[in-house]
Amino acid sequence: MTSAIRNNWTLEEIQAIYDQPLMELVYQAATVHRQWHSAKEIQVCTLLSIKTGGCPEDCSYCGQAARYHTDIKVQALLPTETVLAHAQKAKETGSTRFCMAAAWREVRDNKDFDRVIDMVKGVNDLGLEVCCTLGMLTEEQAVRLQEAGLHAYNHNLDTSEDYYKEIISTRKFDNRINTINNVRKAGITVCSGGIIGLGETHRDRMSMLLTLATMPKHPESVPINALARVKGTPLEDNPKVDAWDMVRMIATARIVMPASTVRLTAGRIEMTESEQAWCFMAGANSIFTGERQTLLVTPNPGVSEDMKMLQNLGLEPKAAISH
Ligand code: SAM
Ligand code: SF4
Repeated sequence: MTSAIRNNWTLEEIQAIYDQPLMELVYQAATVHRQWHSAKEIQVCTLLSIKTGGCPEDCSYCGQAARYHTDIKVQALLPTETVLAHAQKAKETGSTRFCMAAAWREVRDNKDFDRVIDMVKGVNDLGLEVCCTLGMLTEEQAVRLQEAGLHAYNHNLDTSEDYYKEIISTRKFDNRINTINNVRKAGITVCSGGIIGLGETHRDRMSMLLTLATMPKHPESVPINALARVKGTPLEDNPKVDAWDMVRMIATARIVMPASTVRLTAGRIEMTESEQAWCFMAGANSIFTGERQTLLVTPNPGVSEDMKMLQNLGLEPKAAISH
């Protein structure tokens, strides 16, 4: 029997899934995974920071917030040609999705946004699934991005509604939900997940999953990040996230949102190949890859290391989507 898509989960149900003995949980998640996805395929995505640092927000995990003294160098919006050259390279090394991230609080209707629109068109023309994460969006801005060919918009909830104010004071949880709704209305697919290791309780984690899993339509993509501890941020001394917590979180996301792509994202560099294998067993079916240090503000494993890992595990990069 194929598990059904449900949008009426309760916190207790989700908590009961998460609290199962680990082997039961992973077995259940792996079963659901096989009903909805090809278990040998992993989508390989490339993330490029197109505008880095100097962000006015105070997200306490983020090295790009201007108010924290971190080693991240501020970089203005990259030229379109540079971005397209990165996208071309990403395509050649096996990525099928290209995500452009900007350290902005929100999108403004200015020349920079016009340039991002050109980038979206250019990446789309290369035949890559194009994704952006640019901060808050109005409905009109979302429509412009959709018309330019944007496939997905990333906007993470990061944590539970209750814990949100402990992590970010410069915007509200509701602002996040609003942007996600604007993205939906424009017909762009939604990429939204969160971070574990911010000091939240297990209940907060489940509450975040509840918000995602009770949306009228589940996000097509759900990134599960482990906090990448950045020196100079308020959370730099938080304990390292336990790999089993990542496995539990991924498995629970897989079970409650069976059709979504579950993305193993930040913090992956601190995980061994075996730990990552557990995450794939638990239903993760997408990773971000990048040239070590250069593409991302927090390092990710290099492209060839990732391809070697997939090969070791008998997994394959998912073939390109057709436009
Ligand atoms: N400024 C935009 C925003 O906040 O939506 C887009 C870029 S922001 C870097 C995208 C996401 O990266 C955040 O929502 C957060 O989930 C994740 N992120 C940022 N720093 C992180 C860190 N140190 N560890 C884990 N995830 C992080
Ligand atoms: Fe970082 Fe985005 Fe928060 Fe800015 S809004 S501090 S870039 S996570």
